[in-house]
Amino acid sequence: MKEKKKITVAVAGNPNSGKTTLFNLITGSAQKVGNWSGVTVERVEGERKYGDYILKFVDLPGTYSLSAFSPEEKVARDFLLYEYPDVVLVVVDASHLERNLYLVAQLVDIGHPMVVALNMFDLAAESGYEIDVEKLSSLLGVPVIPTIATKNYGIDNLLREIVRVAENQIHPKPLIYPADIEDAIQQVSERIKIFNNNSELFAGCHIRKYVATKLIEEDPEISAQIISVSPEGEKIKEFIHQKRLELERLYQDDIHSILAQARFAWAAGLFGETVKISKRKKFAQIGDKIDNIVLNKWLGFPIFAAVMFLMFYLTFTIGGFFADYIDEFFGWLGDVSREFIISHFHSPLFASLVSDGIIGGVGGVLVFLPNIFILFLLIALIEDSGYVARAAFLMDKIMHKFGLHGRSFIPMLLGFGCSVPAIISTRALRDPRDRLATMLIIPFIPCSARLPVLILFAGILFPKNPTIVVFGMYFLGIAVAVLMATVIKKLFMGGLTPPFVMELPKYHIPAWRVVLKHAAIHTGAFVRKAGTVILLGAILMWMLGSLPFGVEYASEQSLAGKIGKFLQPVFAPQHFEWKGIVALSFGFIAKEIIVSTLNVLYGADEENLADELAKKFPPPVGWAFLIFAMLYTPCLPTLATIKAETGSVKWAFVSVALSLSVAWVLSAAAYYIVALVT
Ligand code: GDP
Ligand code: MG
Repeated sequence: MKEKKKITVAVAGNPNSGKTTLFNLITGSAQKVGNWSGVTVERVEGERKYGDYILKFVDLPGTYSLSAFSPEEKVARDFLLYEYPDVVLVVVDASHLERNLYLVAQLVDIGHPMVVALNMFDLAAESGYEIDVEKLSSLLGVPVIPTIATKNYGIDNLLREIVRVAENQIHPKPLIYPADIEDAIQQVSERIKIFNNNSELFAGCHIRKYVATKLIEEDPEISAQIISVSPEGEKIKEFIHQKRLELERLYQDDIHSILAQARFAWAAGLFGETVKISKRKKFAQIGDKIDNIVLNKWLGFPIFAAVMFLMFYLTFTIGGFFADYIDEFFGWLGDVSREFIISHFHSPLFASLVSDGIIGGVGGVLVFLPNIFILFLLIALIEDSGYVARAAFLMDKIMHKFGLHGRSFIPMLLGFGCSVPAIISTRALRDPRDRLATMLIIPFIPCSARLPVLILFAGILFPKNPTIVVFGMYFLGIAVAVLMATVIKKLFMGGLTPPFVMELPKYHIPAWRVVLKHAAIHTGAFVRKAGTVILLGAILMWMLGSLPFGVEYASEQSLAGKIGKFLQPVFAPQHFEWKGIVALSFGFIAKEIIVSTLNVLYGADEENLADELAKKFPPPVGWAFLIFAMLYTPCLPTLATIKAETGSVKWAFVSVALSLSVAWVLSAAAYYIVALVT
């Protein structure tokens, strides 16, 4: 009789994944039970004949990871590293797939030929998981077999695949870490090539990646081996230490946590790509019912759009209702102070400063206070209810197509409020490339400082339904941002973004106190800005409109006129008036200054600003102006934040150049398109 060939199969898996049940099923009574040498962890071995082979199964202790922090983990790891099983059979609990994939990530790093048993497939189905087994298998690069150990289901497939994997040496596809980590691992891996012949560790080249990750973590045991086998050891150890410090500095985190996070992200991504959660009705919780609707394939986006639309509609209408009164109040205040100053101080110039400059400029912006308050109130309401996380979840698929993380959507939503905290919040993004791309696209999201100019022009351009314009501009901002992400990634960086699934927080009824406080803080900041930057801007603008002394206020002969006229050729395609150009130029300091400047420069004509602007900005110019104002250069504080967060002034310049060119091109296009259709 022909001698049967032996295949050693290490059975790895989390505790309670059904390993022992599966093991007993396969090996029947042919089991040996003992202890691993030196530790009291049980060692169970058993054999099973299959075709021309004898399969020798070794049931490793159940572990969640292979960090060698516990005796179980050490036993499992040592067996994999030093005893070289021909195949690793990893048993995962399919009903807790995401958590179980963490161990799979480490086994993938080790890289032995592998077969995955998707055990507890029955429980997974009951929980409503629909697992795309084929896709999971192709992403992992090794066979994935659904099994139900308690019902003897899938065992034959499993044995067949174990043999096939052993015969063909089917290794898993390597896990690609985020770029900086991957670079470090590759460099370390390159440096330790010289040990290939010296150490029992490197009998298989595929294991080198795992060894490199462990070296970067400065795992004492594996580091000691490297040092002891070569005179080069000390130098390499120092090199590796530097790599570790670099990563820790970059991620502001401990190396173990950096790598663990990367593996969790991989597991989460894999899970997200291959598992659909259906049959949610089994879960009676209301939250799940709501999620069924708001995350529905067909309903999700219309609902998201409707929520946004409602948000802008309320911002516009409720805010606008109060705004009219505030507008009237400042109009009255301006007239009264002008008369008072002229009759008491006989100084038309001083009267103009107070009335046209200060009250006109600051008042013109404060008119939008109710809109700002309502917008922040609604943002806080949506955020606190738990819906924002759903929106990010919905957007993940789309964002992914453009090379961004779904997680990038949260900073983008914050950008509706203000770009500065939005940019700071990108710190939550793990991959530095994602982070940079997100920072650069946030300024395209219309922040609340742009709300005044948006509301002003929406009313002028489409008086019948200004909300449509507001909504359209937000949509444009998001669309440009997402498109630019692709461009930025292509221009400045390469590499793939790992897929991502976030934990969805539970819904809850928003707490009014939290929501009101949030709205009050932001509205307060807006008022403070009106009393400082915008006030100074208005005074400066009034001066530019009045100097040199003797010129007609806000005429082409004034300094403001000279500046505007000087820049006018740049905006030839958009046909902007010089006053608009001056407003845009100074909006660089803070976007509200656009509106305060329009007030200061146009407001002198004793007419309602909107009516005046409607005359000076016919539809093609109005649209071009609005689009330019929505997209052009981030304000000064935003640029300072970009510089601080990237640590380089280069990206602040990139941001300005990028946004100015995009704004210029799109506004010119808007001019011609609107001119054509009207
Ligand atoms: P181990 O700790 O990883 O060795 O897991 P065990 O083999 O002890 O299994 C844990 C529990 O899960 C036991 O009660 C098994 O009966 C049960 N179990 C194992 N596999 C399956 C399965 O595929 N489906 C179901 N429903 N239960 C299973
Ligand atoms: Mg067990």
